[in-house]
Amino acid sequence: MAGEANIPDDATCLGCGYRLINLPTQTCPECGRAFIPGDPATFRDGTTRRPWPLRAESPPAWQIIVLPALVLLYLYGASAPGGFLASFGGTCLAPLVGMATGAWLVLDFAGRILAILADRHRALLDQGRREKAKWWRWIILPLCVAVVVSVQTHHWPLQVRFRLSQPAFDEAIVQLQNGANPRALRKRTGLFSVLYIHQYKDGATFFQTGNSGWDKAGVVHCPNGKARGQNSKRLGGKWFTEVW
Ligand SMILES: [Zn+2]
Repeated sequence: MAGEANIPDDATCLGCGYRLINLPTQTCPECGRAFIPGDPATFRDGTTRRPWPLRAESPPAWQIIVLPALVLLYLYGASAPGGFLASFGGTCLAPLVGMATGAWLVLDFAGRILAILADRHRALLDQGRREKAKWWRWIILPLCVAVVVSVQTHHWPLQVRFRLSQPAFDEAIVQLQNGANPRALRKRTGLFSVLYIHQYKDGATFFQTGNSGWDKAGVVHCPNGKARGQNSKRLGGKWFTEVW
């Protein structure tokens, strides 16, 4: 056949490694994967480069573990006043590594889709070999991205964590009003640890729960129900976030 003149002697199947020499067809007799003799990307030919069509597959199992784990860490970070950098004690390295890994996984995901599109004509020639539908592997990354976007728009991990802690913070306000020493209230409060308490002259009370870079981050109780700063977010009742 004319096409087979083009295929190198050492060509092997991308799917299973079978030697593709002197074949009557353009599909691997072992696994049924099609190859195109004039297209060296569709078979392995002794070079060590990884042919791009191997990327035309659903995301691997390890990404199904790593991605949700990264998102869980992100959710935990985003549940702290001052943003998700705050809960790492002002250390940006861990979030940066997480963001870089996330960006890389998104690029990997896009690369797989591009490879599938580019490989689709050859894939139509495959015989009897079809990757079992692993459709659910394709929904993990979009789900994770949707969760991260929802956090960016609605700050719900912080809202949830504070709502669960609000009775303890309300109780601390009552104790301060009854003359308790602020130092005595530097302790576990709801789902947060209070590091420092500052009582403003206008009656507001700030509870530091962490740091955001060089700044103190926490929640503030404003008896007049108005936020003190422009970047404050309302948490419920007379409580707001504050970074200073
Ligand atoms: Zn094969």
